[in-house]
Amino acid sequence: MKALTIILLLLCLITPPAPAAKAVEVTRDVYRLSPYMEVLPDPRGEWSFADVSGDMGPAFSKLTKKDPNFGYSRWPYWVRIDFDEQLDVDEAWILEIANPRLQGIDLYILHGGSWHHIEAKGSNLSQRRTSLVDAGFVFRLPPATAKLTLYARIVANGSMDFPMNLWSFHAFTRYVHHIQIFWGIYYGLILAMIVYNAFLFLSTKSVSYLHYVLLTASMALFQIADSGQGYAYFWPGHPWWDQRCVGILAGLTLTMTILFSRSYLDTKNTHWKLDRILCLCQWSGLGVSLAGLFLPAGSTIRIAIFLAFLSLPILGAMTIMRIRQGFQPALFYAGAFLALYLGGTMSAFRYLGLLPTNFVTSNGLKLGYILEAMILSLGVSSYISMLQRERMEEQHRLELLETLYESTSSFLGTLELSKVVDLVLRAALRLTGHETGLIFLKNDSGFVIEALGPGLSSDLRGKSLTSFQLANRATQARDANLSPYGLAGRARSLLVMPIAHADRLLGGIVLFSQEDAFLTKSDLHLVEIGLKQGGSAIASALRYDEKSKQAAIDGLTGVFNRKHLLELGQLAFSQSKEEGLPLSFIMVDIDHFKNVNDRYGHSVGDRVLQHLVNRFNQIIRKTDILGRYGGEEFGIILKDANPKESWLLAERLRRAVEQNPLAIGDLVLPITISLGVASLENDHSLADLIDRADKAMYRAKAKGRNRVELG
Ligand code: GH3
Ligand code: MG
Ligand code: MG
Repeated sequence: MKALTIILLLLCLITPPAPAAKAVEVTRDVYRLSPYMEVLPDPRGEWSFADVSGDMGPAFSKLTKKDPNFGYSRWPYWVRIDFDEQLDVDEAWILEIANPRLQGIDLYILHGGSWHHIEAKGSNLSQRRTSLVDAGFVFRLPPATAKLTLYARIVANGSMDFPMNLWSFHAFTRYVHHIQIFWGIYYGLILAMIVYNAFLFLSTKSVSYLHYVLLTASMALFQIADSGQGYAYFWPGHPWWDQRCVGILAGLTLTMTILFSRSYLDTKNTHWKLDRILCLCQWSGLGVSLAGLFLPAGSTIRIAIFLAFLSLPILGAMTIMRIRQGFQPALFYAGAFLALYLGGTMSAFRYLGLLPTNFVTSNGLKLGYILEAMILSLGVSSYISMLQRERMEEQHRLELLETLYESTSSFLGTLELSKVVDLVLRAALRLTGHETGLIFLKNDSGFVIEALGPGLSSDLRGKSLTSFQLANRATQARDANLSPYGLAGRARSLLVMPIAHADRLLGGIVLFSQEDAFLTKSDLHLVEIGLKQGGSAIASALRYDEKSKQAAIDGLTGVFNRKHLLELGQLAFSQSKEEGLPLSFIMVDIDHFKNVNDRYGHSVGDRVLQHLVNRFNQIIRKTDILGRYGGEEFGIILKDANPKESWLLAERLRRAVEQNPLAIGDLVLPITISLGVASLENDHSLADLIDRADKAMYRAKAKGRNRVELG
């Protein structure tokens, strides 16, 4: 529809046929009479035809301007024309005085040696309208006129403007056809816009379309009535109605203009006080319209004009207010009414004699109106699509908020760090629509990957990221390199956001997509809010992680304490039983440790414990679990190790301790340990297995210490 309207707009700008405007002897059929005019103003309005055609002849002066337009004049003007061209006597000739708003014309034409007097009065509007619409006053010259000599006395109640043209009957008929075609197109366009918008109203139920239809239709009817076209074509023979309808339709047009403007500019929510005044004008307009049924048109039009002048500045102020608020459809509104205003001003300037009379200036208001109707139609459709866009955006925002709520409640329910980061990542992917991504957390040495999105290798977990600087706010990029995040290739859209809690940077999240997933500012803001929640969930999980670590680890040696060793042992025990896999337990006890304490003191004893743990950690496998079982006793859980492998490992431990005495300064302290090894057989519980290992260890003690015994 927009394209169609633009085409129509352009069509409208093509000037329609305007013979009267440029009738500088176009053909022998048309003559512009201005060059032959002599004029005489009659300041007291007391001269008769006898006066001016007799003694006063020399008082006439030649028309010096291009057009006989003298602006507002209260006194009559006399015109003398001595047209010296030879006219075709076989042709019927028509004299047109192209200003339909003149009040009265007395025409004296010399024919056959005597003067013929023809009188036309414009005061009786309806009578005037029986003449030709838009062509002004039309007189048929007496038959077989070969030369034209005339006097005319012209009275205007507005602009003293009387361009005259002489037409052959055929040329005039053609001209009238052109005018009719023009008005056919003009009203056709208006009708098309009314019907089109009416259909839009029926299909969308958007009340703005209805307001537009009402406004455009009432304005068109007002013009039809005001121009006399109504009387000529729609209600001929009904002068009572014709005299009143202009006032009635003026009131109605005012009502519809204000009604449309109030809803279009949303004045109620912009400035309710001014809106009250507009509302008052609107209903008064309707009152005027009804009063027009009883009052003469002049009075109703005057009240309507007063109301229009009252509401115009308010509407202007509202329009400026709305434009300043960034309400784009208000620009269309301003453009539309500016076109109408310019058209009206053009008509007014012509009326005041400041602009020449031609087709464009005579019909300025109408051309302004059709431009207004078209621009407003564009405005209404842009307004409606803006509303739809806003509704969609609101819907989208609501959906995002819902997702945000669901996601945040999901990760607030757990304290396990690995789960929390996974949930935060998944929530962020859902919120932003990116394909995948990762979360990295800060530790002492830098950033370490903790969570991975779909399609990324789990080997990346635990990998350190070193080669990038994390910005302190969300950053989006297009066609970005992924290598700073430990990944290969590039991403079409990339979003990197820091994760923080209480001003402490915890890490960051990287989200990316091979599709365009760039976020708007407001969407990004929402995601940032979600990530704040994520940050606090991660902070809680980190705190919990720290605490549980503290509860599981022996402070002196850094290995698991007995409680945690037993918990892990229990897990391993159940798993081995279920899956039928081997499991062993090694019990270690330092030989004659009391003596060390007694001789060198407890702090040296403590150093011995740490020294042993270091040794053990160098020898045991990654999957083995070492813990401090008692004061100077250690337990080692060996997953998936048979008795022989376990015995060999125990033996390696024993030898390593024996061969590496602890050196403190000059002091070299030889240390030995005794070990008991038990492998899973028919044990009913972990305690049974440990008990067998313990017993084996005591056997080793009994057999002389510094040895390994199988349980
Ligand atoms: P055995 O060869 O029979 O094991 O002789 P032992 O002296 O090692 O005897 P036992 O295993 O009963 O010794 C336990 C000693 O370990 C008692 C205590 O002084 C010492 N001990 C226990 N916990 C600690 C500790 O945390 N630090 C230090 N320095 N000594 C500890
Ligand atoms: Mg002991
Ligand atoms: Mg001991």
